[in-house]
Amino acid sequence: MKRLFGIFADPVAHSLSPAMHNLAFETLGMDAVYLPFQITKSQLPQAIASIRTLNMGGVNLSMPHKETGAKLVDKLEGAAKLVGAINTIVNDNGVLVGHLTDGKGFLEALKGAEVDMSGLDVVMLGAGGAAKAVAVQAALDGAKTMTIYNRTLAKAQELADLINEHTDCRAEAVERELLDGKIKSAQLLINGTGIGMKPYENESLVTNPDVFHQGLVVADMIYNPPMTKLMELAHSQGCLTINGNGMLLHQGAAAFELWTGKPFPTSVVQEVLFHD
Ligand code: NAP
Repeated sequence: MKRLFGIFADPVAHSLSPAMHNLAFETLGMDAVYLPFQITKSQLPQAIASIRTLNMGGVNLSMPHKETGAKLVDKLEGAAKLVGAINTIVNDNGVLVGHLTDGKGFLEALKGAEVDMSGLDVVMLGAGGAAKAVAVQAALDGAKTMTIYNRTLAKAQELADLINEHTDCRAEAVERELLDGKIKSAQLLINGTGIGMKPYENESLVTNPDVFHQGLVVADMIYNPPMTKLMELAHSQGCLTINGNGMLLHQGAAAFELWTGKPFPTSVVQEVLFHD
């Protein structure tokens, strides 16, 4: 019988996930379909209950459901437990298990660019959902230090406390004045904020060209535009830059593998949907 998967989000029309997963099912000859469902906040509890009722294989959750969803599943695994947010639900014979694959997806994308997290001094811009997922996963995967800058300092401090409490990585939250100095001694700078995408596509949180030293990799979670202002500045100073396409692809691949136990056909999906 055909197995049903999907994404619960609001809005949902722009999501690339249906195209990604349906292409993967087709490539592997699987009898399954992945559909977009526009689900409002108030509909989420019913929608999650319907995963069991309809015997769906699983779903992705996107904005604005990642944190609420974590409270509505039966159990949480891995980074989802620490962060308290999920982007994937697996229906394990009626038990709904929540996972957060955003961080894993980001790290997989870095590996693709031959960047290994272990021992790195990392600067994270932002402390929202995506920044938190990636910072926690990077700390779990062996980053040495994590400096967090966020417009709302208290959120950066909360994230630093979480990392210090649960991992061997040493994390600190910093004010804007200290940021440039921290970037100068880091090997990886990550943008996990919306600065660089609409309506901020001509802006960057870091503008001082002197901070973009040789040996600094600059990774932006934004995938539209594919080259953000931050990436442009870093690239012009000779830094390796990475956009959010790889994160998008690999967070989906990780979810697919949790649902199906099969390796995601990454190269086919990349070739068809992410050629740039
Ligand atoms: P979020 O939870 O709403 O967090 C937004 C972050 O941006 C917060 O740190 C926020 O700071 C900061 N920010 C927003 N407006 C700002 C401004 N005017 N000045 C300074 N900082 C500002 O959103 P999210 O889900 O984490 O998404 C963050 C970014 O990651 C987005 O660009 C999104 O497209 C990208 N993303 C990419 C992928 C992928 O697969 N590539 C997946 C998820 C997200 P405050 O805490 O002070 O509000």
